[in-house]
Amino acid sequence: MKYRTFPKTGEKVSLLGFGCMRLPESDGRIDEAEAIRMIRYAIDNGVNYVDTAYMYHGGKSEPLVGKALKDGYREKVLLADKLPIVFVKESSDQQRFLDEQLERLDLPYIDMYLAHDINEKSWEKVKKFDTLRFMEEKRNEGVIKHVGFSFHGETPAFFREVIDAFPWDFCQIQLNYMDAELQAGVEGLKYAASKGIPVVIMEPLKGGKLTDVLPGPIKAYWDRIGAKRTPAEWGFKWVANFPEVMTILSGMSTFEQVDENIRILSDAEANALTPDELDIIERVAAEYNGLIPYSCTACRYCMPCPERLNIPYLISLRNEATIFESPDKIAFTINSFVRPKPSACISCRQCEEKCPQHLPIADIMDESERMFERV
Ligand code: SF4
Ligand code: SF4
Repeated sequence: MKYRTFPKTGEKVSLLGFGCMRLPESDGRIDEAEAIRMIRYAIDNGVNYVDTAYMYHGGKSEPLVGKALKDGYREKVLLADKLPIVFVKESSDQQRFLDEQLERLDLPYIDMYLAHDINEKSWEKVKKFDTLRFMEEKRNEGVIKHVGFSFHGETPAFFREVIDAFPWDFCQIQLNYMDAELQAGVEGLKYAASKGIPVVIMEPLKGGKLTDVLPGPIKAYWDRIGAKRTPAEWGFKWVANFPEVMTILSGMSTFEQVDENIRILSDAEANALTPDELDIIERVAAEYNGLIPYSCTACRYCMPCPERLNIPYLISLRNEATIFESPDKIAFTINSFVRPKPSACISCRQCEEKCPQHLPIADIMDESERMFERV
């Protein structure tokens, strides 16, 4: 495993971080034994950064992580958890959430505590409820070690505003080769680094979109150039190429992914890609970006839906219909197997408030109903 240095403490942080938002499931629940096996295997193989959040897996990720870190594993990692700003309705909620998180984790402290999902709207709540003072107090008490934020705002300019507002210990942004200019983007990464703030990266493979079943034109492109790396390798190495990156979170769902990601990030250096390789990646990004209608990363922040719609799955089907030019196949799938169907959406839009990609989810459901259910 490669390591980079956390400037506050000089600690070596593994380039691969374990994101606990897409743990393996069985019958709709986290497959506890497999998830613990995966997390511990990663730690045994050098991963020392584990990331969870209040809302991951509907609140079940934190207890699972707490269990995985028993038997001597807690001391081997930096544990990251996040204050769910979206659920904070009054100042006192912040202490309530932190207490609940420590209870769920069954731990006395959290190393890396982030204000979760900072965007233009949630930032107003942070100011209104004095969240940064709260986090600073908790840091002084030793309940949390480092104060940070995860960012899903719309522009690098807003990212700079947030960076400049507080002496952050670290921050977390979304970055992959398809979204180099989205949200904070590369510009934000470099700005944070120029201020001495280490950056954790999320969605390096765009929620698996850069590695799962690839659209025909993208697969053909990789095949044509005889790429000597897997799509996951290209995705990770593009991110690792930035020396400003401290660690790269991957939300792993299978043991094979854990193994492959450890292999890739045990052999990834900053500034290692050649101009030709960077050019190849840029071309793939341009082709791929032109194909995808809706940039859902399957993060599941929008869930649960009061009408029980599986939003990320339905958006992935909507995207597939366009990318693979297969609307008939998707219509068959939806009408035969999917319940509830997109038409169950009542346009309450509560999911849209939570979507870090700012997707018009209700409109997508409406469009999906027209495309797939009225055929
Ligand atoms: S807008 Fe539709 S998909 Fe979103 S939460 Fe409401 S019912 Fe569910
Ligand atoms: S719709 Fe938005 S919040 Fe929901 S899974 Fe996709 S990106 Fe995440």
